[in-house]
Parts: sequence; structure tokens; C-alpha cells
Amino acid sequence: MKRGKAKRFKAVALALLLLAPWVGGDGGADPQRRCERLTRGELQSVVEFLSSDELEGRAPGTRGGALAEKFMHAWFQGLGLHSRFQPFTLRGFRLDELRLNAAGRELAFGEEAVGSWTGGGGEFRLEGGAVFAGFGIRAPRWDWDDFKGADLRGKVLLVRVNDPGSFLPGIFMGRALTYYGRWTCKVEEAARAGAAAVLLIHTTPSAGYGWEVVRNSWSGEELYLPSDLEKGPAFRGWVREDALRALLRGRRIDLDSLYRRSLRRDFRPVDLGFTVRLSGRCRSRELQARNVVAEVPGSSGRSVVFSAHIDHLGRDEHREGDGIFNGAIDNGSAAAALALTAKVLSAAAGERRLGLTFLACQAEEAGLLGSKHFAAGADPDAIVATVNFESTPVWERSPDMFAEGAQYSTLEEEARAVASGLGLNYVPFSMPELGLFFRSDQFPFARAGIPAVWLSAGERTASGRNRLGEFFQGGAYHTVGDEFDPGWELEGLRQTVEIAVALAGRLEAARERPRWKGQPPFPIR
Ligand SMILES: [Zn+2]
Repeated sequence: MKRGKAKRFKAVALALLLLAPWVGGDGGADPQRRCERLTRGELQSVVEFLSSDELEGRAPGTRGGALAEKFMHAWFQGLGLHSRFQPFTLRGFRLDELRLNAAGRELAFGEEAVGSWTGGGGEFRLEGGAVFAGFGIRAPRWDWDDFKGADLRGKVLLVRVNDPGSFLPGIFMGRALTYYGRWTCKVEEAARAGAAAVLLIHTTPSAGYGWEVVRNSWSGEELYLPSDLEKGPAFRGWVREDALRALLRGRRIDLDSLYRRSLRRDFRPVDLGFTVRLSGRCRSRELQARNVVAEVPGSSGRSVVFSAHIDHLGRDEHREGDGIFNGAIDNGSAAAALALTAKVLSAAAGERRLGLTFLACQAEEAGLLGSKHFAAGADPDAIVATVNFESTPVWERSPDMFAEGAQYSTLEEEARAVASGLGLNYVPFSMPELGLFFRSDQFPFARAGIPAVWLSAGERTASGRNRLGEFFQGGAYHTVGDEFDPGWELEGLRQTVEIAVALAGRLEAARERPRWKGQPPFPIR
């Protein structure tokens, strides 16, 4: 098509787009009216089904996980979308036994230390000199290098979680966690330095979650993408700060003075003068999981990805009473937001410029594995933005909305425009210290260079409570208590769909694709 014609075509398309809200008798072409008309049953069915006991917590590779995949596939097909499974292989490692002896003292497996051995199945044994490596961060952007070229090969690194900015305002991003503060980044760095093992020192304020969360997510089977195993040390784990403190005290080492040194730019790794011995038994297996990918084609060959993970933590058979991690809010409600956004947008008539990809991700809880796998195989140039749903609010309407991660790109202007169009306040997520942007499926897209957000109705509800904050901090998050409640208003879910649909409209109409503003606080691969 030549330029002039293309322009005229665009003008006609734009006129049709503007007229769209008034076309169609039942208001069918007006996406916002479709959102308003979503019934209680439509809002409820997906989250209720996915979080039912029958799905047993939807762990990847289980019957419940496969049912969740099939359900989403059926849902998308029912909307008339082209839906397909994207299978991928995972390697699972389960520790049957772990003995962690440091400076002659045994740490109790589960109570004081947890971890994952990825060196293969069977018996294992590893030992190395203990080195305190500060935050274990190398971030040229902030002129920070905890390793200073020290020879850490074969060592067992003890590393603080979070980044120095959470202790010293004015460096890094202050209270807001950067990716360099995430434990996953520290494991990558430890592997690059040739360390034999890395032990993260857990405190509730620095990790952003309690020991129970660490233990729940690390004491079962650990799953990895085969490509990630090459990048990690054979053992990575967590140790409770109070256990470590007591152990060091026995060696006349003061943990707090090590902490103080770690806050300085001139910090160097500290040889602690004792050996850490790790031994145990591990089972290893291979399993398959599937993302579900549904598409609406667009004329430009580029698309917007909407995503939400459908997996959760499965069940714990050793637990007395209820052992099912139903994952109703994390992430049944967000899968519902994805399903309903697909429903509303796929019903809109007319040709689209940008295609729509609805991605139901597997194995998010295991380390964003499904979205990593999808992003690794995608052409970043063909995806203009990724809009992810995570733990979508299920309560009353909020006067606010947030788009976490939008601040790093021009998606922020789009999100602000969406907020004002819907009469909402644009209020940044209030817990940037949790680093949630790096902890859900938007992040592998961002690392691939694709502007991405975690999109949601606001935290504060009309009655003034921050139910989402309560959920994440000391609430049902990653516990068996994250269960469906028939008393939920589900208006926050409806609102999240409205926000997503409005953002889709803005991106479709935008002349330029979203781009980064400056250097984001994570490396783009
Ligand atoms: Zn989640």
C-alpha cells in the first residue's frame, strides 16, 4: 500500500474506531460497556474453578496443573480465538535430606536452612570455605561491586538479601527494590564468580516475606528450565538470620559489624575462617508443563501480550489438615482478569492494527519459568508491550489504579491517560520494597527489552482499607489460606479488566510504540 492510501485508510480506520462505541445494538462493540455488563457469574467462575480443591493447587506437571491449562485453552477456544499449548521441559530437584554443617554446628533442615541442589540426583556432598560477600551485587549503574575481583571459586557465599538502598537512602533506588537486590540476581552473580554454593541470609524485613514463605516455596521440589541450570551454582539456599547469628557468635564474629561493612562501597568479601559442609540426597526428574497462548491477529504484525500465571504451589501432603495451596488471589483472580479481558477484547468488531496475545503462563511460582520460556522464543520487536495481571484485587472498587513498572517506560503516560479517562487516581504501588515487578511474569518480557507492566485496580478500596497490602504482608499470600471466598465483591476484578481494556485501546490508537525512559533498574539481556 502506498503512503497516501495508507493515510486515508488510517483516517477511515480511526473514524471507525471512534464510532465503535455507538455501533451495535447491545452496546456490544463498546468494550467499556461490556465490562460493566460482566455478570457476577462471569466474574466469579474462573477464580472459583481454578482455586477449587479439585485442582489441588495447580502445580506444574500435576493433574491439577494440566486441568488449569486445559481450562484456559477451552476458555479461549470458546471465545473463538486461535488457542494453542506451548509445552516446555522442566527439571525438578527434590531434597530428601540435607545436612548443613557450618563451623561444626548443624543447622536444622526446614527450620533453620532450606535449599536446592541442582547437581543431579542421588547422594551429594559439597564443602567450601565460608565467605561473607555483602549483598553479592555487581551493578555498574550504581558503581557497586561487592566482589572486587576476589577469587570466590569453590567458596560458599553468605549473602544479604535486598540492596544497599534499602538501608541507605540516596543510593540505588532507596526503599524501592532493584533487580540487583533480588536473590535470583545474586545466584546468577555467585555462579559467574565460580562459587560452589550461595546461602541467602533471611530476615523478614529484607526479604519482604517471612520464613514460612521461604520454607513453603523451598522445601518441596524445585523446578528449573534446563538453560537456567547452566547459570547457577550447584547449591543455592537460605539460612535464617538468627541461626547464622548464633553460629557466628560461637566463632566470635559479630554479624552486625559485617553488615555495617557491607554498606560501604569499598566493601570486600570477608573470609569467615570456617568450612561449610553440605551433604544430602536428592531426587531429580524431568517434567512437562504448558503455557496456553491465544491470539487475535493484527494487521501490523506486532502485538500486545496480556498475561497471567495459572499455576500455584500445589499441595503439601505432609501438612496436617488442609494441605492445598489453592492460590485463589495468587493467581486465580488474575487468571480471571486475563480470561475476561480476552472475552471483552475479542468481542470487539473490526480489524486491529496490533494483534492481541493472551498468555496463560505455567510455572511462575517456580521462578517465572513459563514466561521466561515464552519470552526467550519471542521476537522482542514484534511485541510492543506486555500487560501482566498478578494477584488481582477481588474486593470493592478502588478510587485508584496502578501500573507497576510503567515508570520505566512511556507506558506510564499511557497508564496515566487511562486513569484519567476512567476517573481514577494514578497511584504508584505502595510497596516498592517488595520488588514485585521482578517477581511476576511481566519481568522476563522487560528483561528482553519489552516495556511491561503489572496492571491492577488500586490497593485502597472505597472504604479505605488496603486489602491487597494486607494480603501480601502477613496475610494469606503463599499460604493455604489463599482460598476463594464467596463474599468477595469482585468489583476490583471488573475494574482491572476495564483498565486493561482501556489500555489496549490506547496502545491500538498510539502512533508510537512504548519505549524505555532512561536506563531501567535491571539489565536488559
Ligand atoms: Zn503470583
